[in-house]
Amino acid sequence: MRHAFSYAWWPLLFAASAAAVAYGIQIGQPVLVFNVAYIALAIAIALLERAFPHEEAWLKNDGQVVPDIAHTLLNKGIAQVIVVLVTIMGVAELAAPQAGALWPEHLPFALQTILGLVIAEFGLYWKHRLAHEWPPLWRFHAVHHSVTRLWFLNTGRFHLVDTLTGLAVAMPVLLLLGAPKDIMIMVSAVTAIIGILTHSNVEMRCGVLSWVFNTPELHRWHHSKVLAEGNRNYGENLMLFDQLFGTYFNAARRPPVDIGIHQPMPKSFWGQLAIPFTRAPL
Ligand SMILES: [Zn+2]
Repeated sequence: MRHAFSYAWWPLLFAASAAAVAYGIQIGQPVLVFNVAYIALAIAIALLERAFPHEEAWLKNDGQVVPDIAHTLLNKGIAQVIVVLVTIMGVAELAAPQAGALWPEHLPFALQTILGLVIAEFGLYWKHRLAHEWPPLWRFHAVHHSVTRLWFLNTGRFHLVDTLTGLAVAMPVLLLLGAPKDIMIMVSAVTAIIGILTHSNVEMRCGVLSWVFNTPELHRWHHSKVLAEGNRNYGENLMLFDQLFGTYFNAARRPPVDIGIHQPMPKSFWGQLAIPFTRAPL
């Protein structure tokens, strides 16, 4: 039974959350419904982590709960303000009034969402890859990779600069192509849903889904201290560009339990925000 459940969690939680957001868009309350659905998903994952953990060792307190929550609130708050300004407040139309003609609005909503995800993924993939392979960006991304356990609460633990550069590579292209606001909202929501599933410490088996989507199975390799394993699986939502550019990695053995980085990282939220700007080598 436990085994059968492990195959069900990812598709079940993803489909339920995405359907809730699609419903929220339909009734004209996307932000409210997204936030309710996201909190419900977080609670469900928190309970599943206790009942069906992938790594027992990752259930132990790492002393980073306060910084994890502080980064999450800062990032989610600013990201939502930007998404709301760009979509609902109509900044998109001001920025690119003629662009709507380029976007295939006649396609079904689901197909437009997939198109939006693929287009956004190209920028997200290269930004994430650069954040690992180019030291000036790694300084910021190291805050996320300094975790020694993966669980739902450190999904949003990113340096604010890391989050803003991610938005900067994903959103403008969609705006310039004239993607409708509902598609922008759906792409942002799917990114958030896949993000929290990816970091969850729930025993999930994703099978063929891991060929297409970023899943916990793949992302645990990405947090490995071994560079040959960690500098892999850069996709935020889709593994398309990892497959195309040769960075896809999913070995048959179990991913490492000992994850993190080799450099020191301050323990406090403010220290973590400041460290990339200091001269201390990362
Ligand atoms: Zn990374």
